[in-house]
Amino acid sequence: MEPTNNNKVLAKAASISIPTEPIGSIPRPIDLIKTVAKGDSEDPNLAPLYEDAIRDTIERFEATGSPVVTDGEQRKYHNFATYCVHGLPNTSPDGFTIPFSDGHTRRLSRLTRGPFRYTRYADSYLDVAMRYTHLPVKQAVISPSALSLMYPADRIPNYSREQFIDDLLREHETEIRRCLKKGAHKVQVDFTEGRLAVKIDPSGHLLNSFIDLNNLALSRFSPNERKRIGVHTCPGNDFDSTHSADVDYAELLPSLFELKASNFYIALASERNSRQVLRIIRKYLKPDQRVFVGVIAPSNPHIETPEEVRDRVLVASEYIPFEQLGTTDDCGFSPFSDNTSTTRETAFAKIQSRVLGTALAEKIIGGH
Ligand SMILES: [Zn+2]
Repeated sequence: MEPTNNNKVLAKAASISIPTEPIGSIPRPIDLIKTVAKGDSEDPNLAPLYEDAIRDTIERFEATGSPVVTDGEQRKYHNFATYCVHGLPNTSPDGFTIPFSDGHTRRLSRLTRGPFRYTRYADSYLDVAMRYTHLPVKQAVISPSALSLMYPADRIPNYSREQFIDDLLREHETEIRRCLKKGAHKVQVDFTEGRLAVKIDPSGHLLNSFIDLNNLALSRFSPNERKRIGVHTCPGNDFDSTHSADVDYAELLPSLFELKASNFYIALASERNSRQVLRIIRKYLKPDQRVFVGVIAPSNPHIETPEEVRDRVLVASEYIPFEQLGTTDDCGFSPFSDNTSTTRETAFAKIQSRVLGTALAEKIIGGH
C-alpha cells in the first residue's frame, strides 16, 4: 500500500466535475398557452397562471437532480428573442423573417422610429424564479446581434443606425448587469442567429458584423464578470425544425470562439458528424473558455437514456480537456411560447437523462 499515490488518485477523482446546465425554455402548460392565445400575454389577470407555471417548472427541474435550474422561460412572451421589446409602441410586426426547414416562418418586429428601449429586462424573471428555489438559477438573454435586425435597411429619419446601436448596447449591458447583480448563476446570451447569418450571407460578412457587435457589448464586462457570461449557438428549434442545420459548423465556430465570453453552449447531439465538430472545437477553443456540449436533442422525440448521454460525454472528453468540458441540451425545449411539439414530461425526462448520464461519465473519467 502506497498511501501517497492513493491519496493523489483520490484527490484527482474528487476534483473531476463536469458541470451541466439547461439552455432555458421548457414547454408552457397547455392551459397557459390557450389562455394567452385568447388575449394579451401581459394581462395582469394571468399572473396566477404564470406563477403556477414557474413554480411547477422549478419543482420538476429540482426533481431531475439538475444542479442548475431556470424558470423555463414561462414568462418570455412571445419568444426568446422579442420578450424584451414586446409591446414597444414604436415597432411594427413586419420585421426580419426567420425561415424554418419545414416551411414555416417566425417574424421579428421592425423599429419604426427612435429611441430604442427595452420594455422589460430579464432580471424580472429571476426575481420570481429565485423565490421558488435555493438552487443556482441561470438566465438567458437575447443577443444584441439578434435585436440589431430590428433596424430597417432603409434607415429611420432622425434616428441613425449608430444612435440605435448605442441604445441597443446600453440596454443589453443594463440587462446583463441586473441579472449578474441579482445573483444569476450564469447569464447566457442566445446567439442562434450566428449560424443563420452564414446561411444568409455565405461570404461571412454578416457573421463577422454580429461577432463585432456582440464583442462591443462583452468588452464592457470585466474578465471576472465574463466568467458568469456565456453564449449559446444552435441551428434553431421550433416545431421540431431548424433554420440553419445545413450550415457547416466549420463556417461558424472559428469566429464564435472570438467572442469575449467564458462559456459556450453548443448544439451537438443532433449534428450528423459530432466528431468532426469536436475536432473544430478543440482547434479553436481558447484556454480560458469552457464548452458545454449538447448531449440532448430537444427536437427528437426519442428520450435519450443516461447511458447514451454518458457515451456522448465520453466521446467529447476525447477532444476537450475535462477542465473545459460541460454538458447541456442542444437548445431550449420551446424557444417560442406557443410551441407544443414537445411535452413538459418529455422535456424533463430528457433533462434527467442529461444529469444522470453526465454523472456516469464523470465517474468513468474520474476513474472510480
Ligand atoms: Zn438554441
